[in-house]
Amino acid sequence: MSLRAVKGMKDILPDEISRWHRLENAFRTRAERYGFREARFPIVEPTALFVRSIGETTDIVEKEMYTFTDRGEKSLTLRPEGTASSVRAYVQHNVQAKEPVTKWYYLGPMYRRERPAKGRYRQFYQAGIEVFGDPGPYVDAEVIDMVVGFISDLGIDEVEVLINSIGGPDTRARYRDALLEYLGPFRAELCPDCQRRMDANPLRVLDCKVPRCAKIASGAPSMLEHLTDDDREHFDGLQQTLTRLGTPYRVDGSLVRGLDYYTRTLFEVLGKGEGLGAQNALLGGGRYDQMVQSFGGPETPAIGFAMGLERLLMAMPESVPRSHVDVFVVAAQPDVRAEAALLGRELRSAGLRVESDLRGGSLKSQLRRADKLNARIAMILGESEIENGVVQLKDLQQKTQTEVPRNEAAAHAKPLLA
Ligand code: ATP
Ligand code: MG
Repeated sequence: MSLRAVKGMKDILPDEISRWHRLENAFRTRAERYGFREARFPIVEPTALFVRSIGETTDIVEKEMYTFTDRGEKSLTLRPEGTASSVRAYVQHNVQAKEPVTKWYYLGPMYRRERPAKGRYRQFYQAGIEVFGDPGPYVDAEVIDMVVGFISDLGIDEVEVLINSIGGPDTRARYRDALLEYLGPFRAELCPDCQRRMDANPLRVLDCKVPRCAKIASGAPSMLEHLTDDDREHFDGLQQTLTRLGTPYRVDGSLVRGLDYYTRTLFEVLGKGEGLGAQNALLGGGRYDQMVQSFGGPETPAIGFAMGLERLLMAMPESVPRSHVDVFVVAAQPDVRAEAALLGRELRSAGLRVESDLRGGSLKSQLRRADKLNARIAMILGESEIENGVVQLKDLQQKTQTEVPRNEAAAHAKPLLA
């Protein structure tokens, strides 16, 4: 066949979906337990939204966005991440006028034209949260603690939490000078991108993936030594709260993230288990205290994170897949298929997941299909059962069969499924 999915974009077929559901449900449950409410944003946004928030000199904006012109009119982009849209929506709907603190979560596909690899795709899914209106640092710690708890809900044990602070504008200005002084002598050794970044946005050099640049960056002065007193106090508060919550973390003064909008708190959670390979960042997040204002909203501190669902799935332990069928209804003769359809509906009304094969095959072939689907129960309906108001309830696991009144069939099935 010549038509295939776009490179780096995957189909997720029903056999895989139960793991996705488990992950998504665990995330919703956790987020809602912390007072977050779901928001959904368009997948396509004006290009300027991402250029202005993520930053002109970031990899995402320079190389990875799917940007197109909408029928010769406006430049649009498939969203590469969720925070920019959250902020746009927050400002657009004047949310700060309705509540002092806003807590949103979201789930959905993101698009980045990266080189595909294990754990790195061009369409991938993120789940994330955003908190608007709380300057932290307590909420910063709570958010980190929440996500660590979530990851443990999934059965992923080996993780490492890295935190850093890149301070506010004053710290950044100070640090920028120190960084430029350090990088100066290395200018000629840096990759062409980084030479450009040195002038446009020197902090970006610290995030370069080119080995030569990464090596130079590893010797750069630490941001933490340049924090203003306020920024230092904020970072200390974060650490004290994490300690009080019993959330293990490691301070990594070299942690920078690939988006320009961050201020103060930055964090990342790395998976340590096998199976993730080089793409071991499960999630990343941080504070972005200036962004709402820069989009025309009122001064509003904010913090959030986003996790890659494919990477969480890779780190999640296998579990026994549950069958998607509780009861398989079998029509013993082709003539009773209408009645079998009705029995199916009765059982579904009672909340059971019911499958049948109404093509008119033999009893044996229908039972084979029930086995194949891993159904726990088959309910066989034939002419005599209809006459007597009963069904044959076959426990496909215990290999037993009993006759039960039809109107009690669901009640007999449920204990076996619990
Ligand atoms: P990386 O350093 O791995 O490229 P990133 O810093 O670009 O990650 P963020 O933009 O912070 O990542 O996105 C948050 C999370 O989304 C990442 O930690 C990762 O789990 C996931 N993610 C990012 N890009 C991809 C991708 N191309 N494919 C799959 N997951 C991704
Ligand atoms: Mg990336």
